[in-house]
Amino acid sequence: MPSPIIIKEINAKNIITPSKIPGCDFTLNPYVGCCHACVYCYAGFMQRVTKHAEAWGDFIDVKMNAGDLIYRDGDGAGLAAARAKYDGKTITMGSVTDVYQAVEGKYKLTRQILERLQRLDVELFVITKSNLVTRDIDLLLQQKNCTVAISLSQLDEALCRRLEPRAPSVVSRLAALRKLHEAGVRTVLFISPIFPRLTPWAELVAETVAVVDEYWFENLNLYPTTKQGIKAVLDSIDGRLWWDEYLGKYYGRDGERFWREEEQRIATYCKQRGIAHRIFFRH
Ligand code: SF4
Repeated sequence: MPSPIIIKEINAKNIITPSKIPGCDFTLNPYVGCCHACVYCYAGFMQRVTKHAEAWGDFIDVKMNAGDLIYRDGDGAGLAAARAKYDGKTITMGSVTDVYQAVEGKYKLTRQILERLQRLDVELFVITKSNLVTRDIDLLLQQKNCTVAISLSQLDEALCRRLEPRAPSVVSRLAALRKLHEAGVRTVLFISPIFPRLTPWAELVAETVAVVDEYWFENLNLYPTTKQGIKAVLDSIDGRLWWDEYLGKYYGRDGERFWREEEQRIATYCKQRGIAHRIFFRH
């Protein structure tokens, strides 16, 4: 039985923060915490930073003043200050939370933020695993420069459920991609994270190529906080064999070579098919 999710309404001090992510000037996260509880989530460090006693995935702080932290409606000086700060910059929504996780259905903070961002001249990237994003197609189309990235690492629903226990289904994410694309929103399929032996990235591309404008690829990283969860999933598939292989071939001495070659395989595959792509591998 999953633990209940503790939802707390808070007033935050800031919502847009400078970023060191390549190609991203700022990140924007209207929630602290993420109910999807992915076993590989690097954002689990937020639990310690925010001093939450609950496990990652079991708490969500809702930044009730999210929209006003960008600028207040009707506040000309606030809008001018926001423009001076963010115009011409890139903003990524959803770097340490999912901006369309279930609570967004009730609080509509992401929708409120999109309304505010419309009056700025930013390049916006929205990253999500949720089909709730299609609710805001009207606003996404009104952004000057906007891309929606749906992240997915599996086609197998059962495996997806074990890796991302509370995230929306594979089929709903594929349907969301189609709906966004057909509406005219620029789409990315963010194949992330790539699990060696488990992520069928070529099949994911083949399955979606008609509705995706660009592919992003990111490899799985093993963090001290995520190792046990990932090991448990791999052990449940194939005893300890895969975990031993992970520690040796993919994350041990040979790991760097494996990921360099994988990067090359992906780049060659995409180039041969004229597929726009970006590879965000760290190894
Ligand atoms: S959706 Fe993203 S932020 Fe949320 S738990 Fe999964 S990896 Fe972490």
